[in-house]
Amino acid sequence: MRTIDRNKAVLVTGATGYVAGRLVEKLLQEGLTVHAPVRNPDDHARLKYLNTIAEHSKGEIKYFKADLMQQGSYNEAMEGCDLVFHTASPFINSVKNPQRDLVDPALLGTENVLHSANEIESVKRVVLTSSCVAIIGDAKDCESYPNGIATENQWNTSSTLDHQAYSYSKTVAEKKAWEISKQQARWDLVVVNPSFVIGPGINPNGTSESFNLVLQLGDGRMKAGVPEFYIGAVDVRDLAVAHYLAGFTPEAEGRHIISAENISFLQLSEALQAKFGDAFPFPRKTLPKFLVWLAAPSVGLKRKMVKLNVGYKWQVDNSKGKKKLGVSYRPVSESIVEFFQQLIDAGLVKAK
Ligand code: NAP
Repeated sequence: MRTIDRNKAVLVTGATGYVAGRLVEKLLQEGLTVHAPVRNPDDHARLKYLNTIAEHSKGEIKYFKADLMQQGSYNEAMEGCDLVFHTASPFINSVKNPQRDLVDPALLGTENVLHSANEIESVKRVVLTSSCVAIIGDAKDCESYPNGIATENQWNTSSTLDHQAYSYSKTVAEKKAWEISKQQARWDLVVVNPSFVIGPGINPNGTSESFNLVLQLGDGRMKAGVPEFYIGAVDVRDLAVAHYLAGFTPEAEGRHIISAENISFLQLSEALQAKFGDAFPFPRKTLPKFLVWLAAPSVGLKRKMVKLNVGYKWQVDNSKGKKKLGVSYRPVSESIVEFFQQLIDAGLVKAK
């Protein structure tokens, strides 16, 4: 049980990212001082969205220079903070070297940030942005869970460096965080496990993988149809509130699945069609699994991933986050439409 002093600065790693952007916005609107260690504090173009929000908020933002791969680089920014949000971690599906590009920054970065928390006496709580992928590796894994639904009790045991490397990176990083937190008693660890994040970010040109999927639904790349993929989805603004509540709810503990709905790719497309009609080449049907399997390598998918995910229901139970943190969710159909509208406004997708 930790009570966080709201007069003290709050640290957010990865503040330039899609998920953290809305979290920093929430913290600034609450009048808090945010310490934002970023890779390049002189990159004004990348920081302009955060700066604009800060100019119109009660709170204040201060930048520091830090890198997940540089030991001790978060110490200065953490000094005097009760609360640390560790969101920074690469979310990219296509990488050349999964160890270097995903696992090292996720795992060594988490170790780095938590070792700083051990050194900086003011820290009372760390909120880690993990993921539902640290709970479910492949959708087929759900078959082995009670009623086919994953809860915070499950761990991803199927991902490896060669299969679902991003999921593997999030799993080993969260496990390491629990290991480090249990070796001390000054700060507690509260984990947020979001499903796929959608909805308008503070920066319409985000580089998160979230943008890539929603772009694909509307730019014609999926016009022949979508694989029968099931995912969970959550609005980036609801996720920001969930992080905030995880930070400031004294009795918060453990992991929290943060996911509004279990939904299919086709249902996401149908929500877009309901709003935008046939102005964009949205997919209108599900492709047979054998076709997806055959075509997989030509569209950058691995056949093993197709085999273990297409056609399997991916389901999580989001009740703990609602009950213990008080998280509430807007409908995914609204979030996807607002997200797509942001991409249209930014000129990233064009009507037919
Ligand atoms: P994002 O927009 O790509 O943000 C990633 C952030 O991590 C950026 O701020 C990036 O900084 C920072 N980062 C990456 N490598 C770094 C390094 N070596 N040193 C310092 N900072 C580094 O992705 P996102 O979607 O917001 O993801 C944020 C977090 O949410 C991640 O932990 C991700 O696993 C988790 N998550 C995301 C989703 C989703 O659907 N988007 C779902 C579940 C969990 P730069 O600006 O300098 O690149």
